[in-house]
Amino acid sequence: MKLSKRVSSIKPSPTLEITERAAAMKAEGIDIIGFGAGEPDFDTPEHIKKAAIDALKKGYTKYTSVSGINALKDAIIAKLQRDNRLAYNREEVIVSCGAKHTLYNLAQAMFEDGMEVIIPAPYWVSYPDIVLLAGGTPVFVDTTEEEGFLLTAEKFERAITKGTRALILNYPSNPTGATYDLDTLEEIAKVAVKHNIFVISDEIYEKILYTDIHHVSIASLNEKIKELTVVVNGLSKAYSMTGWRLGYAAGQKDLISAMNNIQSQSTSNPTSFAQYGGVDALNGSQDEVIKMREEFKKRRDYIVRRLKMMRRVSCFNPAGAFYVFPKISFYYGKSFKGHTIKNSLDMSDYLLREGRVSVVPGAAFGADDYLRLSYATSMKNIEGGLNRIEEALEKLNA
Ligand SMILES: *Cc1c(COP(=O)(O)O)cnc(C)c1O
Repeated sequence: MKLSKRVSSIKPSPTLEITERAAAMKAEGIDIIGFGAGEPDFDTPEHIKKAAIDALKKGYTKYTSVSGINALKDAIIAKLQRDNRLAYNREEVIVSCGAKHTLYNLAQAMFEDGMEVIIPAPYWVSYPDIVLLAGGTPVFVDTTEEEGFLLTAEKFERAITKGTRALILNYPSNPTGATYDLDTLEEIAKVAVKHNIFVISDEIYEKILYTDIHHVSIASLNEKIKELTVVVNGLSKAYSMTGWRLGYAAGQKDLISAMNNIQSQSTSNPTSFAQYGGVDALNGSQDEVIKMREEFKKRRDYIVRRLKMMRRVSCFNPAGAFYVFPKISFYYGKSFKGHTIKNSLDMSDYLLREGRVSVVPGAAFGADDYLRLSYATSMKNIEGGLNRIEEALEKLNA
């Protein structure tokens, strides 16, 4: 069948692909340890589930306002004020079916054919395709491990052309775990204001941060950058609510209203009773969030230490999120049983076949020298999986 040009420009999410391949091997009875997961391995906190169950029992099972119930918008507004020192009103907030959907609607509302969108690499896999689906042109700006995987104001300014519409920032980052320090954020904001570039600020990992320094949203730096910024966030990662599909954006009223129109002609409201759970997640006790973060930190410390001890592997210490991004390109050119490893896809393939571990190739994130390992899995799996990776790599050293 002849499909639309639009859909032909994109590919399915590569992270899902590798998870599926590993699942197929598992189904054949092969024991695979997965480092591919893009979601927390914890259950959703009980009080949040209870709030959604109560909502179901009360009959909150009908359409809601397209942009979300007021109680959830108010909880989001209170959260942005409390955590990020940002003031918004209800017209400046929209709830969607996950932050991915928020970003999709945002791109549809903001981009015109050919508009350029600056995406620092390594980047989250969905950004380029979301931009392409809206007719925009992704412009990748490479950041290096030496720079802490952070965009610099200089590189940002150099990438700006007459056609530049927006910059997408994600901190803490998926896949690197890097997050911005205040100075760099200030400098980037200055460039954005100078050239009138919108900033899409994806802060979905803000609660999974291991530094002593509090997360700062770029929107909170001054009024001018706040006007240019759309804060994107969601409940999936902080509250282990990936299946609930709740994400949100806060920004200029006319943009939010345009996103509302798009949503009203596509999904309509996010699921009614899920929204009630969301209210409880944001307004209720944050104890579980802290517990999950502490558990993630223990795993990060272990996994980074182990990877650094492996031969020809270097590993950046992530400040947040639940991924490590080790550099494995020192193995490129090595062979095993006649197969030469030339890139991150070959390495992922090799580790799946020889090591029975699934990892995501760095190429999926625009950084072919690396692999992404998620530590949203048990300590036992992490230990066992790292032993397997170490053994598999040693075979290449032989
Ligand atoms: C997981 C993720 C999202 C989207 O999460 P939703 O489940 O759609 O809310 C957005 N951005 C990044 C960087 C992510 O890792």
